[in-house]
Amino acid sequence: MHVRAIAILGATGSIGTTTLNVVRAHPSRLRVAGLAAHSRWRELVGPAKEFGVGVIALADPAAAAEARASGAFPAGTRIIEGFAGLTEVACLPEISMVVSAVVGTAGLAPTLAALKAKKDVALANKELLVLAGKFVTEAARLSGARLLPVDSEHNAIHQLLRDKPKGDIDRLVLTASGGAFRDTPIADLKHVTLAQALKHPNWSMGPKVTIDSATMANKGLEVIEARWLFDIPADRIDVVVHPQSIIHSLVTLTDGSLQALLSPPSMAYPIQDCLLFPERLPCPAPRLDLAQSLTLSMTPPDPARYPCLGLARSAATTGGTAPAIFNAANEVAVAEFVASKLPFTGIAELVGRALAAVSAREPGVLGRRPRRRCRSEGGHVQARPGTSPLR
Ligand code: NAD
Ligand code: MG
Repeated sequence: MHVRAIAILGATGSIGTTTLNVVRAHPSRLRVAGLAAHSRWRELVGPAKEFGVGVIALADPAAAAEARASGAFPAGTRIIEGFAGLTEVACLPEISMVVSAVVGTAGLAPTLAALKAKKDVALANKELLVLAGKFVTEAARLSGARLLPVDSEHNAIHQLLRDKPKGDIDRLVLTASGGAFRDTPIADLKHVTLAQALKHPNWSMGPKVTIDSATMANKGLEVIEARWLFDIPADRIDVVVHPQSIIHSLVTLTDGSLQALLSPPSMAYPIQDCLLFPERLPCPAPRLDLAQSLTLSMTPPDPARYPCLGLARSAATTGGTAPAIFNAANEVAVAEFVASKLPFTGIAELVGRALAAVSAREPGVLGRRPRRRCRSEGGHVQARPGTSPLR
C-alpha cells in the first residue's frame, strides 16, 4: 500500500496540530518526515518521537540552538534553522506533499520551492495566494505539482468542481460564519475587546484568522484566494453569511441550480481530503447527526458591519499588487489591534487608508520591475484560460 510522506510547515499551529491528528488516524496511508515551526520547539518533541520525524526546522535560530542543546529530541533528529531550514524541509527528497500552514507571508519562499520541486501542496495559508497568486499558481502549473486547498470553503468548492467542465460553472458562493461580532450592534464595534474578538462562535483557529473572521477581512482574502485557485474573476464570487458553518460553500451551475458541500465545522475534514486526495476514508472528527434537528440559514453580508470585505473586493478589482497591499495593511492593523494600539473598527480604517495611499502595480518577475500602474477598472490580473493549477 502506498504511504504518502509529508512535511508540515506551521506544525505547532491550529492547522498543523489538526494535520497531525489526521495522520494519526491513517498510519497505513500517511507518514510525517519533516516538521517546521517558528520557535515553540517543545511542542514538536512529542510529534517527533511519535511519528519518527527525521528533520525539524525552526525559523528562529535561537530556538533551534536551544532545541539542539536540550537533548529532548531522539538521537539522529536533524534540527535546522531559519528560512533556509523551512525550505529544506519543504523540499525533502522523501516527501511528496507539503502542508503549508505557516501564518502570514513567511511561508511563501518554502511553498514556492516545494511546488518547483514537484511536491504537491496542501495550502492552508491563503495569504500566499493573495500576495503572489500569479507566481504560486504558475509554479504549480509549470512543475505539474497539485495545489490542493485546505481552507474549508475552497476545499468544498474543489470537491464540488471535481470532474465538472468549466463551462458548467456560473458563480462560486463562499459561506462566512460572520465571526465574533455577527450580532453586535454596529455602534458598539469600536469598543469591543481582543478577548471578545478571539471568541469565534464555531471554529477554533489561530488568533490572526479568528480576528480576520470578525472583520471579514478573512472572507475578502478568500475571494482573492478563490479567484486564483479556480481561475474565475472575483466579480463571479459571492459571499453569504451562514452562521452554522455547516455548508462550506456552494457552486451555482449554468442552469441556475446550486450544489453545496456540507460537513461539521472541523478542519479535519478539508485537511484529510487534501492529505488522502483522491481517496476517501472515515475522518477522525464527529459526523453530522441528522437525527437532531438542523437549521441552516443564509443572509447577505452587511457592508456597514464588514467594510473589510468591500475593501478586499476593490483590491481584487484593481488587481496587480493591490491585494498584497490589502493583506500587508491588514496584518499590520491586526497586530496593532492585538497590541491595543487600534480599536477594532480601526482595522478597516487603516486598511482603507493604505489602499488609498499606495499605488498598485503589475507584479513582474524577479529581477525585473515593471512600473506600470494598475487601472482601477478592467485592470484584473487574469491567469491564462485553463491555467488553474487544480488537478
Ligand atoms: P496558528 O497561529 O495557529 O499557527 C501558525 C503556525 O505558523 C505556527 O506553527 C507557527 O510556529 C508558524 N509560524 C508563524 N510564523 C512563522 C515563521 N516566521 N516561520 C515559520 N513558522 C512560522 O495559525 P493557523 O490558524 O494554524 O493558520 C495557519 C494558516 O492557515 C493561516 O494562513 C490561516 O489563514 C490558514 N487557515 C487556518 C484555518 C484554521 O482553522 N486555523 C482555516 C483556514 C485557513
Ligand atoms: Mg476559510
